[in-house]
Amino acid sequence: MGTVSISFDADVDVEVPLLIVGAGAAGLCAALAATEAGIEVLVIERDAVPAGSTALSAGLIPAAATRLQRAKGIVDSPQLFAADIQRKAKGEADAAVVDAVAHGSGPLVEWLMDRYGLPFEVVDNFNYPGHSALRMHGLPTRTGSELVDRLRQAAERGDITILPQRVADVLLAEPDGRIRGVEILRGDGERERIGCNALILACNGFGGNPDLVRRFIPEMGDALYFGHPGNRGDAVMWGEALGAKLAHLGAYQGHGSVATPHNILITWAVIMQGGIQVNRDGSRFCDESQGYSEQAAEVLRQPGAIAWTVFDARIAAVARQFEDFRAAERAGAILTGDTVAELAGAMGVPAATFASEWMDVENLKAKSGQDHYGRQYAPEQLCAAPLHAVKVTGALFHTQGGLAIDGVGRVRRKDGTLFPNLFAAGGAAAGVSGSSAAGYLSGNGLLTATVLGRLAGQAAMLRRRG
Ligand SMILES: Cc1cc2nc3c(=O)[nH]c(=O)nc-3n(C[C@H](O)[C@H](O)[C@H](O)COP(=O)(O)OP(=O)(O)OC[C@H]3O[C@@H](n4cnc5c(N)ncnc54)[C@H](O)[C@@H]3O)c2cc1C
Repeated sequence: MGTVSISFDADVDVEVPLLIVGAGAAGLCAALAATEAGIEVLVIERDAVPAGSTALSAGLIPAAATRLQRAKGIVDSPQLFAADIQRKAKGEADAAVVDAVAHGSGPLVEWLMDRYGLPFEVVDNFNYPGHSALRMHGLPTRTGSELVDRLRQAAERGDITILPQRVADVLLAEPDGRIRGVEILRGDGERERIGCNALILACNGFGGNPDLVRRFIPEMGDALYFGHPGNRGDAVMWGEALGAKLAHLGAYQGHGSVATPHNILITWAVIMQGGIQVNRDGSRFCDESQGYSEQAAEVLRQPGAIAWTVFDARIAAVARQFEDFRAAERAGAILTGDTVAELAGAMGVPAATFASEWMDVENLKAKSGQDHYGRQYAPEQLCAAPLHAVKVTGALFHTQGGLAIDGVGRVRRKDGTLFPNLFAAGGAAAGVSGSSAAGYLSGNGLLTATVLGRLAGQAAMLRRRG
């Protein structure tokens, strides 16, 4: 089924207390937490410089009850956050994991601020679907590359060894499931076997493995994959071979607004501020405000697998806080029209149909109405000329299914019992999004990467002492 395997030959070249595979947000948070707890850590990373899908993200971490929220008068709590996660996931997410990430999120952000100097801010000029409080915390550039760079720098300052250009491809295990270590392929072609007391899999999901995507998420089998290509499902494949419980493999984070053919993310803030989507016939096709994740498949079902995201200058000003949006502008992806008819001409959609859809929505906004798809509007979403449009498609961002874990990232066997020294965090583990794309609440990706990474790093230390 892939290129990774399991070996029961226990010989190793070198031993470390804690081994972490993957240096994205999950692996680096785990490494920082474990090092603080006094455990020696070695991180193995496929790339020359850690980046992962973390670097491709906007770096926004949802966190409840932080002092940054309190300073802005935002009322929030872990309970409210947990309820939001489960509402979006239709109650399908593991309750213990939801509880752990909702309660751990605020402390996670404050830990990264206080201990490692990450300058988080609360995003307070728009909210994402399904969050009942403003709780997205981002760094000044609103980029995941800033997040992963700052985490790596913190690790380097803490003398954490990250071995780059090493691919873990053989898991060393004992017949009872105890992990002995991993065999790695080095950049120079040599192989090395590293033993460990505990292993944290932080190598994300299987978005970069088209065979696994087609097997578990057929609706995205031919979709553009927008995540890190090195995330090839190694954790899932090892888990399957080890007899681990795999959960919600059909779940994923999609996105219904990736500029095409430029392949640049257009932030969903555009929709939440009052933008809409029409297909190439100029017609709307669903309630866009439900969420960007489920919108990926909706857009791919439209003629030509494209849609137009339409908005105005006020919305563009909000979106411009994201470097991606500015890049889309520079690339010429954003079209402008002084009138609805002029914009329709630039988009190449039937003007009468588009104008009628646009005016219907504007009228609903003025009277706080709801459309026949169930989308609710508000007067502050009203748009004014000049108008903008960008041609978009749906993409797969990352998979949300993976190894079933407990509230600190310990991996479960098929019968629900725990492997003694195997952990997973971030995209390697089953997330908190239930069984489908529609269950993905914005931020679930970095939430489970950072919080569970930290908890797994701490728990790996406790395991060693026990
Ligand atoms: C475009 C985009 C935008 C996003 N925006 C957001 C957002 O704003 N908020 C949010 O919460 N989430 C967002 N996400 C999702 C988020 O990026 C991921 O959920 C998160 O980064 C996962 O972190 P991770 O540490 O598990 O994986 P990664 O960051 O992908 O790190 C995994 C690392 O493991 C390495 N690796 C893999 N296999 C091996 C191996 N066998 N041996 C050695 N190394 C290996 C990889 O090279 C990689 O560096 C976005 C995703 C994308 C693609």
